Amino acid sequence: MRIPFVAGNWKMNLSVDEAVAFLDDIKGKLPDPKVTETCIAASPLFLESMIKHNADSPLIIAAENCFYEDTGAYTGETSPAALNEMGVTHVIIGHSERRKYFNETDDIINKKVHAAFRNHLTPIICCDETMSRRQSADRISWVVSQVTNALKSVTSDQAKTIILAYEPSWAIGSGKTASTDEAEEGCYLIRQTIADLYSDDIANQIRVLYGGSVNDENADDIMAQTDIDGVLAGGASLKPDSFLNLANFL
Ligand code: PGA
Repeated sequence: MRIPFVAGNWKMNLSVDEAVAFLDDIKGKLPDPKVTETCIAASPLFLESMIKHNADSPLIIAAENCFYEDTGAYTGETSPAALNEMGVTHVIIGHSERRKYFNETDDIINKKVHAAFRNHLTPIICCDETMSRRQSADRISWVVSQVTNALKSVTSDQAKTIILAYEPSWAIGSGKTASTDEAEEGCYLIRQTIADLYSDDIANQIRVLYGGSVNDENADDIMAQTDIDGVLAGGASLKPDSFLNLANFL
């Protein structure tokens, strides 16, 4: 049995005060993590305050990105070693906005995945799909290659712990959610790729999320799909009530 994973990705939204107020609002209202794990990924500027305010809460605090070296002369970057030191346990890697605006390639994403593992962070690896890719003949190999390249030299023991997300950029922030069939197909494809790269056993263990205009009205149907173990929500994670609805599958 895979435990559902409901994650919010705040991106570059909210203020530190709003982030802390959000945590106060949801305190005591989250599901038992044995039933559903919940997570918010936030700006590195918020993480220290959030971790302090999150004591005794089951909410997982994640980073939205990290660099692929542990420390060093990399002005402006986020050290995965420092994230771990702060108490961050998860990190999103390869979000389509990182691929698009910061030119992150599969090779960079693979290095970041290794940096996460070196620093005891669980990677939440996103696979993108643009509309032109979706309409092209190689749309399946595009998703497969993102998973394959992100996991180069990742061991079976490491692979068991990752979380993957099918995040078609044509559905992100657009209000146009993938249909349940489209979301299921993308997540199934990711799981099959894991089976081919590792084993059926590992493919059955890992969580695969769907992200792209998820809200508290469509999340139920999305999460009911066989290969979808949760969601990665942007806009719908910014308000405590709607995040709680997602977390409690309302
Ligand atoms: P959205 O963002 O829910 O606002 O579409 C999802 C994401 O980018 O992870």
